[in-house]
Amino acid sequence: MPIRSDYHMHTPRCKHAAGPMEAYIEKAIALGLREVGFSDHNPLPDGIGLNVRMEESELDAYVADVLRLREVYRDAIHVRLGLEMDYVEGLESYLDAQRRRYPWDYVIGSVHYLDRNGREISWPRGFGGDIHALYERYYALVRQLTRTGIYDIIAHFDLPKRTGIPATAREAAMVTETLREVSRTGLCIEINTSGFRHPELAVAEPYPNAAILAEAVALGIPLMVNSDAHAPGDVGTAFPEMEALLRGLGCHSLACYAAGIRHTYRLDG
Ligand code: ZN
Ligand code: FE
Ligand code: FE
Ligand code: ZN
Repeated sequence: MPIRSDYHMHTPRCKHAAGPMEAYIEKAIALGLREVGFSDHNPLPDGIGLNVRMEESELDAYVADVLRLREVYRDAIHVRLGLEMDYVEGLESYLDAQRRRYPWDYVIGSVHYLDRNGREISWPRGFGGDIHALYERYYALVRQLTRTGIYDIIAHFDLPKRTGIPATAREAAMVTETLREVSRTGLCIEINTSGFRHPELAVAEPYPNAAILAEAVALGIPLMVNSDAHAPGDVGTAFPEMEALLRGLGCHSLACYAAGIRHTYRLDG
């Protein structure tokens, strides 16, 4: 398959993903991928979101499992060590220490929380139904995330559409401003295909949508395609469709990472 990697895979440690880690890797091998990366939900302090992430005490074992599986599968596929690390305003020094403590190949930055109390973006009821204010707060946090220097890749860029309320022309300027900031910092944006599995979306599409991707391509922002797998069968979701989308946008190369260094490969290479 021209897309070589899937870097966004969860494990049962986050309490909302199923299936042994080996099964995710074997699905990737069956699809013909050359690299897979685990990026489970990171531990956070003060019990923030503890129902959807591993405990702090589990992080060593998670890292050890990925490094062990790298050896087990070394003749079949490259297994990368990653993390989906929530950006939470005010926790920068905690997150920076987590980044430095382990030999990550890459860290994916997510904004799932609007504040330190763990207020989630997924539901408009949490923001008084003011969807424009929700988008404003969300993209402000994404811009802060890009400036921390902690992250390599930005997760599910237009996540607030998971409320079921898509962005409108009113939000276009803040999206463009955020993309410009991303392009200055050299971060990669993932094309997250979990949108093809989220019934909340009115239309099945990736995060971000094709219009935002076209802007990202024009700005030269590095891209990669990830499934955000929470079960082995999710690995590689809609990858052929994303390959066609990328070609249509005139994007012919994608990013991959090893030891925190970004590399580029050609889709037709
Ligand atoms: Zn998850
Ligand atoms: Fe996420
Ligand atoms: Fe994820
Ligand atoms: Zn995610």
